[in-house]
Amino acid sequence: MASLPSFAGAASAPDFAAHPVTRAEALARLHAFLPQAGAAYAARRNIVFGPGRHDAVSRLSAALRRRVLSEHEVVAAVHAAHGEGAEKFVAEVFWRTYFKGWLEARPQVWSDWRGDLHRLDLRLARDDAFAARHLGASRGETGIDCFDHWVGELEATGYLHNWARMQFASIWVFTLGLPWQLGARFFHDRLVDADPASNTLSWRWVAGLHTRGKAYLADAERIARMTSGRFAPRGLATQARIPDGPAAPAAQPVRSPLRVDRAAPCVVWLTCEDLSLELEPALADLDVRGVAVLGADGAGAVDRAALGDGMARAVARWHCPSRICASAEELAAFAAGEGARQVVTGFACVGPALEAVPEVNRALRREGLALAEHRRSWDERAWPHATKGFFSMKQRIPALLSAAGIG
Ligand SMILES: Cc1cc2nc3c(=O)[nH]c(=O)nc-3n(C[C@H](O)[C@H](O)[C@H](O)COP(=O)(O)OP(=O)(O)OC[C@H]3O[C@@H](n4cnc5c(N)ncnc54)[C@H](O)[C@@H]3O)c2cc1C
Repeated sequence: MASLPSFAGAASAPDFAAHPVTRAEALARLHAFLPQAGAAYAARRNIVFGPGRHDAVSRLSAALRRRVLSEHEVVAAVHAAHGEGAEKFVAEVFWRTYFKGWLEARPQVWSDWRGDLHRLDLRLARDDAFAARHLGASRGETGIDCFDHWVGELEATGYLHNWARMQFASIWVFTLGLPWQLGARFFHDRLVDADPASNTLSWRWVAGLHTRGKAYLADAERIARMTSGRFAPRGLATQARIPDGPAAPAAQPVRSPLRVDRAAPCVVWLTCEDLSLELEPALADLDVRGVAVLGADGAGAVDRAALGDGMARAVARWHCPSRICASAEELAAFAAGEGARQVVTGFACVGPALEAVPEVNRALRREGLALAEHRRSWDERAWPHATKGFFSMKQRIPALLSAAGIG
């Protein structure tokens, strides 16, 4: 087997035992969690037991976000174990698919968020009272017990339970009166599962901008109940004042990148969008001459650990050289040097992954190479149903499962 380049710094990573990002560990977690993925999940998934005790939920999000495990295999395993009894868990995985599809159809929501952050940073620089409020929230110094605790938990572990994320976002927006955009950045910079679609759109959902006029208001009594009395927050907003903002743009057709040419020799460019391409049946007969990762130095520890594992698996599958490239030019030169005619990668979703594509495309074109993106059939089938609210996708889950050969 070809020797692997090493990822500096991956060893000093966060708590991978809690949030596995290697395939072996993520599979072990999936199998350990399976018995609880049915009725137990439906009954207990919203109870926030606290740090180190989140075992009513799978904590597979860091792996799913990077497709160390695919949605298909997780849903298939859970469905095989529980059949219809896995309905709640399966629906949660489809929330992820739904948000991704929704954002692909409205990439402007992502670029608007980036633009809003730029404007808000200018305001933070010149408005002292606003900056102090933002700093107090970011440091967990608000005096709202659950919120301050969750800031600490997020900083320490990179994870918050879904229900805690909802309360947090609601308090940030409606009680503290801070812009959702800054809250979304606060999460995105810290979460082990940070995902442009799930994060940005969940914040918009809580703020009442996703389903226009329907916001999520945190409630002190409910928080006390769902945290087994650990918290008694005071002074929470009793009204959701939905922030101003433009209506979501109309859905547009999802981008159609160049498809993989199965006859052309290729280098596989691995990104955190899809780290199990080597298992994709549609790519089984590719002539793979090399595997590459780009810009790993700028990646966080969780990404580096996942990329390192993904690269090791890809090399073991395709028996080819591998390279960690510092630039798009180095990636292009590596691919050309290995005799590739195309570079194949997972579909670059809206967010940093898509933003990296133009530079890579330019470098590849200079070497006479093409960039092809592989879109999984899971996404191809589901995303067309992600144009309205989640309900219209939910209704189609049985048909989507059957099209995927599940059940
Ligand atoms: C404000 C806010 C921000 C969020 N930001 C992110 C994010 O950046 N990345 C991310 O992956 N999820 C995000 N979520 C969704 C959800 O909180 C996490 O996916 C979930 O908590 C992960 O824990 P788990 O793997 O134990 O989930 P489980 O309950 O075990 O669910 C299984 C899988 O289903 C998916 N899932 C579950 N709930 C949701 C949901 N509400 N929306 C989308 N997918 C879901 C995840 O892939 C998860 O791993 C956010 C939710 C909110 C309210």
